[in-house]
Amino acid sequence: MIRQRLKLLVASTNQKKLKELQELLKGMSVDVVCLRELPGFQEVPEDGKTFEENAAIKALGYAKQAGLLTLAEDSGLCCDALDGAPGVVSARFAGLSKDDQANNRKVLSLMENVPDGERCARFVSAVALAEPTRLIGLVKGEVQGLISRTVQGTGGFGYDPIFFYPPYGKTFGQVSAEMKHQVSHRAVSLLKARGMIEDYLKK
Ligand code: IMP
Repeated sequence: MIRQRLKLLVASTNQKKLKELQELLKGMSVDVVCLRELPGFQEVPEDGKTFEENAAIKALGYAKQAGLLTLAEDSGLCCDALDGAPGVVSARFAGLSKDDQANNRKVLSLMENVPDGERCARFVSAVALAEPTRLIGLVKGEVQGLISRTVQGTGGFGYDPIFFYPPYGKTFGQVSAEMKHQVSHRAVSLLKARGMIEDYLKK
């Protein structure tokens, strides 16, 4: 008997993040579908107070619309010196236009007077897997770094050019996608999510 491969909707409206998610899901025995392939989908509002809540809201909301197994991710940057900001509003920290450069400028300016020893920050990624009727599971990944004093590098997206990763001696904006995928918050959460999807496929 030939078993049909399961479709997995990867629900992100951020094209750069979607590309990373697709790369980190490579080799799984599912057919990855993205929101662009769902005509007329309604954007699910992200009104949760935590990354986990938002990931769950998105996974369930899009799974219901699509009638498919759905993976959604919510992520962001948390700076110690800013009491965890930008946090869940990372994408729109400097305004609703979700402008990465403006967001970076805002973080750098708010942290202008923060001394070198107090510039710790972390990227957080929460991933939820859902069927149209229920949340299957939630996993999380984090990576620690420092906020640089200037924008450095043009790679990646979002806050990558101001996120200095000490073991590399560079910002995420200065390293290749492969190097970022070895250590990033998303790589950690997706490794756990792969396990969750494999368990689901076995059942
Ligand atoms: P979301 O689409 O609501 O999860 O927003 C995520 C936002 O967090 C992005 O728009 C970026 O501003 C930031 N972010 C999340 N992950 C990364 C990353 O890997 N690099 C840089 N910025 C990130």
